[in-house]
Amino acid sequence: MAERQIVVVGCGRLGGLLANKLSSAGNSVVVVDRKEIAFDKLSPNFSGYRVLGDAVEFHVMQTARADRADYLFATTMEDNTNLMVAQVAKYVFNVKHVIARVYDPARESLYDGFGIATINPTLLSADKFLSMVK
Ligand code: AMP
Repeated sequence: MAERQIVVVGCGRLGGLLANKLSSAGNSVVVVDRKEIAFDKLSPNFSGYRVLGDAVEFHVMQTARADRADYLFATTMEDNTNLMVAQVAKYVFNVKHVIARVYDPARESLYDGFGIATINPTLLSADKFLSMVK
């Protein structure tokens, strides 16, 4: 399988985990975070690139080579940031596969309207809790 170029925005609990797993699976990964300390979550085997900066700023995403990405995952804790970053990735950098973390179930239709795929941790957790009720 050809190597995929993947930009992960946010190197927090979710983004860091994704970046480590995607890198060890042989993908070319660029991870972006505005806090240097966040990169401590990357494993010693992480073979991708770290970009320090606010992902909402255009030049930061240029540095992350979003123009070359096959996938972009917007995983910060801020729904608004994720939506903004995802839109720029999709419509400015023409990233084919853009997936955003969105906590607020009420906002999901907004993302749908922009053609952005979403992962909703709130709904996923609710489903999991409910599935455990016997
Ligand atoms: P978590 O909620 O633990 O998955 O962490 C989210 C990560 O996103 C943190 O490491 C934040 O520093 C990072 N983050 C939040 N907003 C931005 C932003 N605008 N640009 C880059 N990284 C961000």
